[in-house]
Amino acid sequence: MDQGTMIETEAQGGVMAAEAAARAALLWRCWPDGKKSCPRCHAQSPYILAEGRLRCGTCRYTFHDFTGRWLNLSGLSPAQWLELARAFALDANTREAAAAANISYNTAFKALTVLRLAILAQGTDARQLLGPQTGLSGLFSSGKLCPSPEAATGEIPVYGILSQGQRVFVDMVPELTAESLLHFNHNFHLRVARLGHILITDRYKTYDGLVLCGDDRLPYHYLLRHQGQPFAESGSPFWLYARERLRQFKGLSARRFPLYLKELELRFNRQGEDLLPMFLDALCAPIPTSAIV
Ligand SMILES: [Zn+2]
Repeated sequence: MDQGTMIETEAQGGVMAAEAAARAALLWRCWPDGKKSCPRCHAQSPYILAEGRLRCGTCRYTFHDFTGRWLNLSGLSPAQWLELARAFALDANTREAAAAANISYNTAFKALTVLRLAILAQGTDARQLLGPQTGLSGLFSSGKLCPSPEAATGEIPVYGILSQGQRVFVDMVPELTAESLLHFNHNFHLRVARLGHILITDRYKTYDGLVLCGDDRLPYHYLLRHQGQPFAESGSPFWLYARERLRQFKGLSARRFPLYLKELELRFNRQGEDLLPMFLDALCAPIPTSAIV
C-alpha cells in the first residue's frame, strides 16, 4: 500500500468511525431504553432483517431505526445531521451550516426546514400549528419533504406575541386573520408597522402585538398610517430581538413564517443555553400522526 492509499484508507476509516458514533448518538435518542417497536402499531420486539431493516411481527410493517421520525424526512447521514444541528445550535445561518456539514446550500436549506418543523412540533401548540390553518403540513407528505409545495391558499394566519417576565410565547390567534387586522387598522386605529411582507401591530388584548407574514394575497396598500409606532417596535424585547433576525432570513413566506417564529421564540427563551441536545431530541422524535397527510 503506498502512502497516498494509506492516508486515504485512514481518512475513510475516520469518516466511518464518525458516522458510526453519530448514528449511535441518534439511535440512543430514538430508542433510549434500546427496546424497539413498530412505528405503525407500536408492537414491541420486531424481527431484524438484512441491512438494518426491521419487521413488525404483528402488522408485518417493514421499517428501519429512523422511520417515521423527523430526521428521516431528509437524506442526510447521521454525521451530517450532527454537524448541521451543532452549527445551527451555534446560530449559524444556512450557508455556514451547509459548510459545517459539508453539504450543498439547497440540501442544508431543506434539512433546516426539517429541523425547524421538528422544533415547532415540540411545542404545546404544535397540533394547532401543524393543522390546516397554517399550511405547514403541506411542506411534507408520505415521509418526505415536498420538493415544491403548492402555493399557500386560504386565510393568512395571525400570531400573537405574549410576554411573561423574561419569557415570550408566540401563538397563533385562530379567531383572527389578516383581514381582521386590516379591519382593526381601518376602523379602530390599530397601529401597524410593515417590514417587507411582515406586519406588526400595536398591543392587542394581552399581546405585545400581533404579527403576520403576508404575500400577494394581502392588499398592503389598504394599510392606514396612524400617528406613533406600534408598541412592539419599542417595547417588546422579543420583537426587537426577532425583527433583526427576520430581516436576514431568506425564503420567508406566509407558510414558512411560523417555523421562524417558533425558532426565534426558542432561541429567545433559551439564551445562553446549549441548544444542541434539544435540537437532536426534536429531530429524533416521531412525526405526530395527526400531522401526516
Ligand atoms: Zn406493527
